[in-house]
Amino acid sequence: ALRFVEAFRDGGLARGLAEAIRREADPGRVYRFMEFCGGHTHAIARYGVEDLLPENIRMIHGPGCPVCVLPVGRVALAIELAGREGVTLCTYGDMLRVPGPDGDSLLKARARGADVRMVYSAADALAIARRETAREVVFFAIGFETTTPPTALVIRQAAAEGLANFSVLCNHVLTPSAMRAILEAPEVREFGRVPIDGFVGPAHVSTVIGTEPYRYFAEEYRKPVVVAGFEPLDVMQAVRMLVRQVNEGRAEVENEYARAVRPEGNRKAQELVAEVFELRRSFEWRGLGLVPYSALRIKAAYAAFDAERRFALEAPSVPDHRACACAAILRGARHPRDCRLFGTVCTPQTPVGSCMVSSEGACAAYYTYGRFR
Ligand code: SF4
Repeated sequence: ALRFVEAFRDGGLARGLAEAIRREADPGRVYRFMEFCGGHTHAIARYGVEDLLPENIRMIHGPGCPVCVLPVGRVALAIELAGREGVTLCTYGDMLRVPGPDGDSLLKARARGADVRMVYSAADALAIARRETAREVVFFAIGFETTTPPTALVIRQAAAEGLANFSVLCNHVLTPSAMRAILEAPEVREFGRVPIDGFVGPAHVSTVIGTEPYRYFAEEYRKPVVVAGFEPLDVMQAVRMLVRQVNEGRAEVENEYARAVRPEGNRKAQELVAEVFELRRSFEWRGLGLVPYSALRIKAAYAAFDAERRFALEAPSVPDHRACACAAILRGARHPRDCRLFGTVCTPQTPVGSCMVSSEGACAAYYTYGRFR
């Protein structure tokens, strides 16, 4: 089980932490902790963190992977828009491969002649709009609270410059709303009690929103939340803190990542986001369905830069591939190994569902690091 320990920056520390967790965990009970964020899922798979934990501590992988949670309907919308005359659609590399309806994708749309471009940032898309004024340049924006401020920035910038050919198709989503949806998901209620004993809170997202928004989960749902950094040692330390909280009957918000996360988060980033975006009444998530107030849209003051208004777009509701278990995986109700397409029909080269696309997706993380526990 300690086979992977050498990969840690400090193998000795990892071993010591594993030992401490083993000592402190009550062998008479099972601990189920969800790491919300795909970055943590990736670190857990890559460094074999689960192999270091005792059997009765289970990590449940959460929906915090931006491309994973985008429903097929929003992908269909992007494909349709990219096919329109004069439109240049810009988005992140992973997004190009996310399967849309009937296995279609932005990559395939590009092969059919659509002008789809891969960018590394919102600023790249803005730069294309400045350069190619004859094109309608649309940035397909995805992501949780970490990527929202840069999108807000380019919208404000475009407005300041009076750019007439730039808009954003906004798919920015909110972490706390998804956490709540998971705690309210039907599978969870069926167990008679919530089967998640605590959350490893996201790293980057929390640098923006702070730790305060998680207090609700500690107080209303009695779920401990420990915000953790991205290093595998951070994750293990967070697990130890969660075990302690559970053992002591506490449900609090703790911050393992105090070197980067402040309770109030980054106020400047929050103000920027509030200037440009407002809550959507409802947004469809893969796996979670329609979640109230779980996403952002562009405010009326910046309507000129809102691709949904500009091109009169409305996302269709399209079901997932029949055999793909992504929806249940994103709710923490199933594991990648439960999917019969995993590693056979579905691989990172030929993804059937969104969880196999990004390195933060649970299926891709397990496939890449060959873990089937
Ligand atoms: Fe979906 Fe592929 Fe994961 Fe199965 S292995 S749940 S088909 S992404």
